[in-house]
Amino acid sequence: MFDKTVAELSAALRRRQVSSVELTQLFLARINKYKNLNAFITLDPERSLAQAKAADARLAQGESTVITGVPLAQKDIFCADGWLTTCGSKILSNFVAPYDATLIEKFNKAGAVCLGKTNMDEFAMGSSNETSYYGAVKSPWNTEVVPGGSSGGSAAAVAARLAPAATGTDTGGSIRQPAALSNLTGLKPSYGRVSRYGMIAFASSLDQGGPMTRSAEDAALLLNVMAGFDVRDSTSVNEAVPDYTQTLNKDIKGLRIGLPQEYFSKGLSPDVAKAVEAAIAEYKKLGAQVVEVSLPNSQLAIPCYYVLAPAEASSNLSRFDGARYGYRAKDYTDLLDMYCKTRAEGFGAEVKRRIMIGTYALSAGYYDAYYLKAQQLRRLIAEDFKKAFESCDVIMGPTTPSTAFKIGEKSDDPVAMYLSDIYTISVNLAGLPGMSIPAGFDPKGLPIGLQLIGQYFDEARLLNVAHRYQQVTDWHKQMPKGFN
Ligand code: GLN
Repeated sequence: MFDKTVAELSAALRRRQVSSVELTQLFLARINKYKNLNAFITLDPERSLAQAKAADARLAQGESTVITGVPLAQKDIFCADGWLTTCGSKILSNFVAPYDATLIEKFNKAGAVCLGKTNMDEFAMGSSNETSYYGAVKSPWNTEVVPGGSSGGSAAAVAARLAPAATGTDTGGSIRQPAALSNLTGLKPSYGRVSRYGMIAFASSLDQGGPMTRSAEDAALLLNVMAGFDVRDSTSVNEAVPDYTQTLNKDIKGLRIGLPQEYFSKGLSPDVAKAVEAAIAEYKKLGAQVVEVSLPNSQLAIPCYYVLAPAEASSNLSRFDGARYGYRAKDYTDLLDMYCKTRAEGFGAEVKRRIMIGTYALSAGYYDAYYLKAQQLRRLIAEDFKKAFESCDVIMGPTTPSTAFKIGEKSDDPVAMYLSDIYTISVNLAGLPGMSIPAGFDPKGLPIGLQLIGQYFDEARLLNVAHRYQQVTDWHKQMPKGFN
């Protein structure tokens, strides 16, 4: 049962082959058995099992939805009523959320079970899950390498079959990059597609929640629940939400795939390049055609992001001051000293680095030179995509420049770490939907991801294009060894 997809579990639940309580117990036992991965920050078996019982009652009454009774893992960035919600930080290490994020509320209404809150880089700042106050997450593919980040706990949990699916958030690649490094299907929706209400903010103009699953079909099932307008999030978009499962099987004959030359130049590992080329060849067999496109400002995405994201973060994180909730330093002399000590003790090194960069970039005298310039670049990057989409329907390329790196290998070199997101960040800057799907393995047996980028609100097409590939390949079905 533990190797079944959400779609399969949903069918089994409705045929009464298994109960939600049994499934929840099964996955909780696996989480416990493989706790060396450090994929979860908080478990609350009683709460999970109570939800499972309620789901079984709904199933018995025939009032279920497709995901009623399905256990899911939730990234610890989403506030969930009554659950410890830490965002991977010491400063929220005692914060029990008093309300549900919209996304959590939607899963609860649909009857899904929350298995626990997954480990993550502190405030989602990182690409390896090493900045978490709760320790690094290990990849089930090789416990010496990283699962990717910042949604590393969700990635490790789904890859090791500790949960059938999970949620993640993606500000610069944090759904797609860990999906690529952990052999999962990860979808970052268009900006505004999924409500950010109750999702702890990192860089508000870039953050977007999305599903991390084992197949495109499962991603469609989860997105059906997550997507939609929310009056409580002024950046959510009031655009009709299609049923993403309806178009999964559409023929892709004639699909125009754009290959950006900039994504295949120096810096790309030959193993990744080979796998991506093989995937494109597979698409040609399915009837797609390939066109060359150019994203000339790609190389500016990382510097642009590392001005804008820290600037927004420095403002968003100013609320963590020890006054109303969260961690507070023990000894202090006055209010200012309390703020200073609380923040000095409560934040980790990477978060402090971002707050300092952001504060600097926003300060009077530097604003025009850095923040304003970065905003202008952001526009140019979005224009590049607009132009590229004049000649293609979907853009494809690698998700990451290399496969998973060793734990510790880049943790002392922020710039090397930032480069992990070189192919994913511009998608967030433009606000487009992006996806990563499994496309092979390197000679060391580490997973490789293929990235698909779509037009605004064209998630249905991305899911369709991903699903067709998954029908003729079985990379996405491969499971790490030792997790039976
Ligand atoms: N790795 C990038 C960063 O550290 C992106 C993180 C994310 O998408 N949350 O900012």
